[in-house]
Amino acid sequence: MITLKEALKLSQEEIQNLKKELNERAKKESKLGAYIEQFLGRDLSQSCEGIPIAIKDNISVKGWELTCASKILQGYIAPYDATAIVNLKKNGFAPYGRTNMDEFAMGSSTATSYYGKTLNPLNLNKVPGGSSGGSAAAVASGLALASLGSDTGGSVRQPAAFCGCVGFKPSYGRVSRYGLASYSSSLDQIGVLTQNVEDAAILYDAIAGYDKMDSTSANIEFIKTAPNLNADKKLKIAVIENYINDASEEVKKALLKTIDMLKSHGHEIIYKQMLDCKYDIAAYYIIATAEASANLSRYDGVRYGRRSENIENLKDMYINTRSEGFGEEVKRRILLGTFVLSSGYYDAYYIKAQKARAFIKAKYEEILKDCDLIFMPVTPTTAFDFNAKKSPMEVYLEDIYTISLNLAGLGGISVPVGKDKDGLNISAQLVCKAFEEQTLLDGALSLEKIINRGNK
Ligand code: GLN
Repeated sequence: MITLKEALKLSQEEIQNLKKELNERAKKESKLGAYIEQFLGRDLSQSCEGIPIAIKDNISVKGWELTCASKILQGYIAPYDATAIVNLKKNGFAPYGRTNMDEFAMGSSTATSYYGKTLNPLNLNKVPGGSSGGSAAAVASGLALASLGSDTGGSVRQPAAFCGCVGFKPSYGRVSRYGLASYSSSLDQIGVLTQNVEDAAILYDAIAGYDKMDSTSANIEFIKTAPNLNADKKLKIAVIENYINDASEEVKKALLKTIDMLKSHGHEIIYKQMLDCKYDIAAYYIIATAEASANLSRYDGVRYGRRSENIENLKDMYINTRSEGFGEEVKRRILLGTFVLSSGYYDAYYIKAQKARAFIKAKYEEILKDCDLIFMPVTPTTAFDFNAKKSPMEVYLEDIYTISLNLAGLGGISVPVGKDKDGLNISAQLVCKAFEEQTLLDGALSLEKIINRGNK
């Protein structure tokens, strides 16, 4: 598939042909389930002229269905464009196709979608990761040039690592959340999934910047990164030693080899320890579920999407609409979130989790004082089999290396660095100081070049 950079040189007619080709391919590859349209036997949704970008089904595109892959939102049509979409359109891009996801972005395998599973293009028996599994699978299989996803605890970086593309989550506040269906508002961030680092910079530049429609948007200067990319900068990179050591043997081996390559290309490597990931998991699943329980209270059968037909009174309407409309994982999280916010437990859980969050953030800031970037795994293993994870807890543990960045509000990118013995992708994660995306992308480009050179 041509890259975004190459696509920027195409004529409108060539772009139209490209869209047709993508649509045909998506139809042929319907079993992949990367796009929601593939489950419905429809053409890929489109709204205007421009270079086609696949859009996760939780980002509003005016006139398109927006369902967060949930039954409860069936039939809901977005009445406005998310700011990220407005910005895309201004920059010559156009939303094209709705990508599949875990219901309400809760999950790590895109297996909780109401429409069905997305498969990993590298091995159809493996999960593509999640929750932006459709966005990752579409890019990795040549069914999209690039896509938008959302990352609350790793949902851009982890599926990118499982499918073998680049996944970039900017710092919290860099990309407006206006028009992104809220999961956990203090953690959610729109990110990009692309074929390479330069495309990640190009697409990020198109969507980022201050937006008065989002009160958490960062009102600071934004300078475009793609024109200033520099892979030759020598950086000081802190390796999180305990994370590398705790990863699976194959992931560890690939990352250690990558560290040697970074060193021999002139980057300075230092070693640091980070807090035990168990604190990240505990804090994240309290804060994320607490905010989700509040955010999802709006789906009441009145304002959005689907209403139960089995109603005798107002209370029935709420209960039956929500019982029928939400899947099991979403219900589990609403219950957990409601519990940790209830009086008597609020201090014990929610306040404690907020303290842990502040502590994790401080620890990252301390490490980042000594270096330009942090280097660590994206995931402890490569993509796993469908049904490999028995309990919800086992799935939650897939996020051990990604969620802390959301808790700390930092930017992170996952870049492919190798393969395991079964040909599944292994990626490394680079992390930057808040709002230093230029350094992050410079480092990621350097890493990508080193790996490509090594593979030749
Ligand atoms: N897997 C994590 C969760 O289920 C993260 C999801 C995300 O980033 N949206 O909450």
